[in-house]
Amino acid sequence: MINKLLIVDDEVAILRALSRVLTRAGYQVFKANSGEEALSIMQQYACHVVISDFRMPIMNGAELLGAIKDLYPDTISMILSGYTDFNSVVALINSGTAFRFLQKPWDEQALFTEVKEAFSTYHNRSHQHQVNLLMSNTAEALVELHPNGQFGQVNGVAKQLFDFSQHTILLSDAFPYCTDNCVNKLFEDDLQTVTLQNRQGKDVELLLKIATDNSRFFELHFVNKNDGAVSNRKQLAAFLDQNELITTADGLIKSNTHFAMIAIHLKNYNYWTDMMGLQASEALFAEITSTMLSQSKQFQASLSFLSDEHFVLLLDNYKSELDLHKQLTDFIEPFNTSRFSDKSVHVEFVITYCIAHEDGESAQQLLNNVLMSNRLYRSSQSNFFMRYDASMIEQKRNQLLISKALFHAVENDELFLHFQPKFDLNKGKICSCEVLLRWNHPELGNVSPGVFIPIAEQEGQIIELGYWVIESACIAISNWTKKGINLDKVAINVSGKQLSQIDFIPRVEALLARFDIDMSRLEFELTESWLVDNIEESAEKLRRLKNAGISIAMDDFGTGYSSLSYLSKLPIDVLKIDRSLIMDIVHNLNTQSMVGSITRMAHELGMQVVVEGVEQIEQIKVLEKLKCDVIQGFIIARPQAEDHFTALISNADVSIASVMGKI
Ligand code: C2E
Ligand code: MG
Ligand code: MG
Repeated sequence: MINKLLIVDDEVAILRALSRVLTRAGYQVFKANSGEEALSIMQQYACHVVISDFRMPIMNGAELLGAIKDLYPDTISMILSGYTDFNSVVALINSGTAFRFLQKPWDEQALFTEVKEAFSTYHNRSHQHQVNLLMSNTAEALVELHPNGQFGQVNGVAKQLFDFSQHTILLSDAFPYCTDNCVNKLFEDDLQTVTLQNRQGKDVELLLKIATDNSRFFELHFVNKNDGAVSNRKQLAAFLDQNELITTADGLIKSNTHFAMIAIHLKNYNYWTDMMGLQASEALFAEITSTMLSQSKQFQASLSFLSDEHFVLLLDNYKSELDLHKQLTDFIEPFNTSRFSDKSVHVEFVITYCIAHEDGESAQQLLNNVLMSNRLYRSSQSNFFMRYDASMIEQKRNQLLISKALFHAVENDELFLHFQPKFDLNKGKICSCEVLLRWNHPELGNVSPGVFIPIAEQEGQIIELGYWVIESACIAISNWTKKGINLDKVAINVSGKQLSQIDFIPRVEALLARFDIDMSRLEFELTESWLVDNIEESAEKLRRLKNAGISIAMDDFGTGYSSLSYLSKLPIDVLKIDRSLIMDIVHNLNTQSMVGSITRMAHELGMQVVVEGVEQIEQIKVLEKLKCDVIQGFIIARPQAEDHFTALISNADVSIASVMGKI
């Protein structure tokens, strides 16, 4: 059968490059420039696998894959996009709409592996549909038998004949008079009617369908998760403590011993349970366990099973850390091979390890460290074997400390604001400023917002902090008004999480009314990555903010993976070009032409262009030439306390003139 593959991307260069590599790999490749074109190709050719970009104008990747799932349920769809899209794509993967997320730029080898797996899943799926049809449309007792001897599906008629209540059944259990030879014979034909005796000694005529073609029966094997192995952390620790080969009487690891303790966590077990049900996932787990056991025998290592799909391996016959990595690669090799890939699942592990003595003095300590680091690395995308790293654990502890302290920052009066001016190149004066949050903790000292803001976003304190910033900025604005200082705009950074709050807009309106500040005086800066990740939600919220009169700036533009045409869906007033994009602008003509065209396009879309992080006079000269509107950066002034800031803008003409005079 020819494997038909459809690739969809609005960037022609990407379509061409992908098509080239995948055609070379032997697939029949179809290309579509948009979601609509993709659907019309599907109508004609019903491709087996679709790889689609996520961000596309009109119909985006999620909408396209949703339509494909409805129309062609067997088709396997994958998203190929920038890493910043990962969070938005997770929902697609969890709902089963997308099979995998492939990252741009792609690694050719990884791409081939994923595409191969997608086709194998497609073929398994359509085979499974045929089996399902056969199962439900027959009056015979039908049992699906997998090549490893385990039962797959059992139809209603067969269920009545046998007691199939156990998750995994040994064939010999169900058919005590069925010898291995008899089973082997069953596999000679694809479909067989056999007469067997059931447990009650009755003759039963059974139609057996062999699930996978060309495969033979290898072993009837089911390893109970607890068989012969230690089954919880406490037992394992006790076992290590009492093992005289490893531990001294006072609980320390013997000085002449040398071993590595490896924690292996099965990554996607919960996902399998959701996707294929408890019974099938347990059977698969049993198979993984039995493979682990036989591997541990081969590697002369001892293996324990802990709860939550954890395995702990003790390995001592390795020569160096490099050799340990090599052995671990070989250890998990069987999980990459056909025995598991024909199950249409991808077995993935998080593997961390500790080395005796260096990473812990007692077996207990090693066990704690290896399990803790395994938990910490679980959310990372890395597939490396990671050694326990005390500094990483320390960093996590610090984060926890910061997070706890942040809960009390407002009530303990530890927060204050800094203000950084923005200089309007067209008007030649400071006309606005950005409000930046600062935190001084009695023990931790001044903590940078680059450190505490992400923690506050993750742990939820950002909501309270955010309202504190808006309220304090309002107080500052009304003080300035009394002193006769009237900036056109005051920009406040707003976290996406805060914007998502249902009562965000009414609360902001109430605050501004309390201080008698016009909505048009405020500008909210939102990061590019949040806006893009939540485009539907943010479009609606931003429109409401804009209707209320607040201006919207997209912060840090250029750090994500978005294009301006995509962002034109959002009601944005100001585009803030990130510092990283202009750092080399003085000497790099490519950067100049990029910033020039971003500015032109932003102007066409009615946006003002602010460039942040400007540090050199030469940069200002270039940015003026490229028609950027506003600059912000150390060259004008650093973020500063309120009294310095008001002094600066009161004497702005003098201080700024000295800067601008050098241009
Ligand atoms: P941002 O909104 O992009 O703020 C600009 C950052 O660049 C500020 O860092 C500022 O001090 C720094 N900066 C300004 N000019 C220059 C320059 O010429 N050179 C260099 N190297 N840096 C410059 P800061 O104050 O450390 O803030 C970091 C980030 O923390 C902010 O990035 C913003 O995303 C976040 N943040 C700060 N205050 C708040 C807040 O009140 N709420 C929220 N949600 N986030 C905030
Ligand atoms: Mg900002
Ligand atoms: Mg920024």
